[in-house]
Formats: sequence, C-alpha cells, structure tokens
Amino acid sequence: MARIFVIANQKGGVGKTTTSVNLAAALARLDQRALLVDLDPQGNATMGSGIDKRGLARSVYQVLIGECGVAEATQCSPSGQYDILPANRELAGAEVELVGVDRRETRLKDALARVDEQYDFILIDCPPSLSMLTLNGFCAAHGVIIPMQCEYFALEGLSDLVNTIKKVHANFNPDLSVIGLLRVMFDPRVTLTQQVSTQLEQHFGDKVFKTLIPRNVRLAEAPSYGQPGVVFDPQSKGAKAYMDFGAELVERLGNPPV
Ligand code: ADP
Ligand code: MG
Repeated sequence: MARIFVIANQKGGVGKTTTSVNLAAALARLDQRALLVDLDPQGNATMGSGIDKRGLARSVYQVLIGECGVAEATQCSPSGQYDILPANRELAGAEVELVGVDRRETRLKDALARVDEQYDFILIDCPPSLSMLTLNGFCAAHGVIIPMQCEYFALEGLSDLVNTIKKVHANFNPDLSVIGLLRVMFDPRVTLTQQVSTQLEQHFGDKVFKTLIPRNVRLAEAPSYGQPGVVFDPQSKGAKAYMDFGAELVERLGNPPV
C-alpha cells in the first residue's frame, strides 16, 4: 500500500513544487516506486519533471471529472524516473465543474485507490490556496509535509494551515496528520532564520525534519532544463540535501533504504 503525502502550504513561492519534484526523484533513486500528482493548474511540477504541459492528451483534470483513470493519464518522468500525473491550466476548470458533484472532495482519493498497490509513495503537489483542489489533496493523503521558509510571517501562516488540517481531520479525513515541517531555502547567515528555526524546534519537536534544505541556485535552475535538481546537479548542496531528506523520510517511516 502506498504512503500518500500532500506537500502543502497556502503561501506561494515557499518551495512546495521544488520539494515535490526533488523528493519524488530522491525516492526513485532510493529504489522506491513513486508517483507525483501535480494538483496545481500552473503545471510547474509537470514542467519540472520534463513533461510539456501544453501537449497533454490527458491530465489530472480528466481524472478528477471522471473521464479517465489515473493509469491512463500517468506518464513516466523522462528525467526523474518516477511517474507523474500531470496538470495544466485546464485543471482550474475542475474547481467549478465539481460544484454540486457528489463526494467532490474525495475524487482524487477514489481515483488513487485503484493504483495504490503499484507505488511505495504517492506525493501530491498543491496549489497555493485552500481550494477544492487542495481539499482533494488533503482527503487523499495520510500525511502532510509542510515546506516553509524560516521567516516571521511563516509562523503566522503555519497556525492557519495547522487549523485547516485539524478541520479536515475532524470533518473529512481522520487518517490525516502532519508528517513534518521541512525548513527550505535555509540561509544560516540570517539571524532571524536561526531564531525562527529554533522556535519551530521548540514548538513542534520531532515534527521538524532534521534535514535542512539550503538556498541553492542549482535547485532554481533545474526546472528550466525540465529536470529535478537531484538529477540536474547531484553534487550540488541542494541536491544532496533533498537526497538526505528522502532518506530521512524513508527511515522515519521505518523502512530503511536498501
Ligand atoms: P511553490 O511551489 O511553493 O510556489 P516553488 O517550489 O515553485 O514554490 O519555489 C519558488 C521559487 O523559489 C522557484 O523559483 C524555485 O526555483 C525557487 N526555490 C525553491 N527552493 C529553493 C532553494 N532551496 N534554493 C533556491 N531557490 C529555490
Ligand atoms: Mg508550486
């Protein structure tokens, strides 16, 4: 049975897609069977996995509205060696089309149930909002991975997100929990970064992943080559950090990499 994790943070530009793509590639390199679901109409995870979002015959949109199954819309990332259920701007329409549809918040969950056995991990990259798409991600998942930058407003946003997760847990998905907080774009030279990082560890203890993802330009350059950073430049600090994160996650779940 696959472990299904949603990468969420309602803020934009905090590193959700970078984390999704690089974690999927890191897991693939650790011999884990991974599926990445792009649930953002911007299609950044799709492009960053080496798939052109403009030429999709089928995408997660068709899956959500019930026109096809996950397997029929899934492709293999040519660069990352993981599977991807791609997205493009068409997905924005799903929000409206699902209004009034029965069990609309569990469309993704129901669709993923049919491919569950084929993967060790399913990762879901969310849009920067608490929309029906994100709710589908939360309902499909066992856990939430929260990438965050260590800055003052990040803490404020975090309490909103944790409250949302509690509501989803209470009303829709009793399996949902926070797997962990991942500190990204980390720059230890900034004093505030260190202060916020320490506060996070004090408040959330073991829920804070030990791995720190540094600010690293190679991670930002990789998507324009259609590659995850861990493939584009495996020796870079950012790539190594995401490989460490993949190993930490697998180990934390009690299934050490072979
Ligand atoms: P989100 O999906 O939350 O909107 P992205 O993953 O797209 O965020 O990241 C926003 C921007 O920051 C992108 O341009 C990305 O390349 C860059 N970025 C993300 N993580 C890092 C990092 N660790 N170091 C440098 N740049 C990063
Ligand atoms: Mg994104």
